[in-house]
Amino acid sequence: NKQVILKNYVNGYMKPSDMVVTSDSTICLELPKNNDGLILSKNLYLSCDPYMRNRMNEVVVGSYMTSFTPGLPISGYGVAKVLDSSHPNFKKGDLIQGFVNWEEYSLITDTQYLVKIEHVDDVPLSYYTGILGMIGLTAYVGFYDICSPKKGDFVFVSAASGAVGQLVGQFAKLFGCYVVGSVGSKEKVNLLKNKFGYDEAFNYKEEQDLNATLKRYFPNGIDIYFENVGGKMLDEVLSHMRIHGRIAVCGMISQYNLDRLEGIYNLHLLIFKRIRMQGFLTLDHYHLYSKFLDMILPLIQEGKIVYIEDMVEGLENAPTALAGLYTGKNVGKQVVVITHE
Ligand code: NDP
Repeated sequence: NKQVILKNYVNGYMKPSDMVVTSDSTICLELPKNNDGLILSKNLYLSCDPYMRNRMNEVVVGSYMTSFTPGLPISGYGVAKVLDSSHPNFKKGDLIQGFVNWEEYSLITDTQYLVKIEHVDDVPLSYYTGILGMIGLTAYVGFYDICSPKKGDFVFVSAASGAVGQLVGQFAKLFGCYVVGSVGSKEKVNLLKNKFGYDEAFNYKEEQDLNATLKRYFPNGIDIYFENVGGKMLDEVLSHMRIHGRIAVCGMISQYNLDRLEGIYNLHLLIFKRIRMQGFLTLDHYHLYSKFLDMILPLIQEGKIVYIEDMVEGLENAPTALAGLYTGKNVGKQVVVITHE
C-alpha cells in the first residue's frame, strides 16, 4: 500500500521533501471482525487543497482540524471506491467522496463527511474532488450566500483561475455581474478571459503598483471581493471597496506558509464604507449539497460552466503537486490520480 507520509512538522514554505512516499506491505485488505461503521476503500483521485499546509503545523490555528501526525499518511478530500463496508449507508462497489488518507487503500473510520456519489456517465468521476464536491460547494456558498450579489455588481476574484476562483468568476458572470480576476501568469490571464468569460484579468506578479492597477480595472470601486489570497492584496482592495461592499473571506493562501502573518492596515475602512466582511467554512454548509448539485450538473452538461483540472498521475508525484499550489504551478484544480479504476 503506497502512502504519502509527513516526515515532520513544517516551518516556513512547504517543500515536496517534507513528505516521503513509502510502501506499507502490512496492509490487510479485509475489514476487522466485530466492527460496525467501517469502510475499506480503494482510493482513486486526491484533491490538493491549500488548507492542507495548515495541518502540517504542530498547532493548527483556528483548530477546526487537527495536525497531521508525522510518520503517518496525510489525508485530504478525495474520491474512492468501497471495497467492503460494515457501515449501513455504504456498500461494496459504491463510489464515495470525502476524507481519505493519501494512500492506495484505506480503512476509513471517520465517515462524518462521506457522501455517496450518484455518478452520471457524462461527467468525469474526478470532478467530485472539485466542481462536484467540496470546491464547487465553496464557490456556490461563498458567492450566492456570503457575497449577497446583485445584478450589475463589480466583482473582484483573487487566485481567479484556481479550483474555486474559476467557478466564482463564472457564477458571477451568469448572475450578470462585471468580473475581474487576478492571477500569477500570462497563461492564466488568457484562461480567465478566453475560457472562463471574465471581463478583465491581470497578472498581479507584473503589477508594480496594485493601487493603480485596481483603480484601472475598477474606476468606480468594487462591490464584491471574493478573497482567496489575503495579505497585500486584501489591504489594497479594502481601499477600493464601495460603500456597502461585501468581502467573502474564503481563504488567504499567501499567508499559509508564513511564520508571521502580514499586517492589514486598512481595516478601519470597514467602518466608513459599511463593508460586510465574512469568513466561512464549507464544512458548515453540506446541507446545501444536493441543492447545489441540482444546479451545477445541468450547467456542466449544457456547457454553460467549464472546468479545468490539472491532473498528475501517481502518488509518487503527489508531494510536488501539493507544494505547487503555493507557487502557482497548478493551472486549474490540482488533482492526483492514484488510479482511474
Ligand atoms: P487554487 O486551485 O486556486 O490553488 C492555489 C492558487 O493560489 C495557486 O495556483 C496560485 O495561483 C495562488 N497563490 C499561491 N500563492 C499565492 C500568493 N502568495 N499570493 C497570491 N496567490 C497565490 O486553490 P483553491 O481554489 O483550492 O483554493 C483557493 C482558496 O480558497 C484558498 O485560499 C483556500 O484555502 C480557500 N478555500 C477555502 C474553503 C473554505 O471552506 N473556506 C474551501 C476550499 C478552499 P496564481 O498563479 O494565480 O498565483
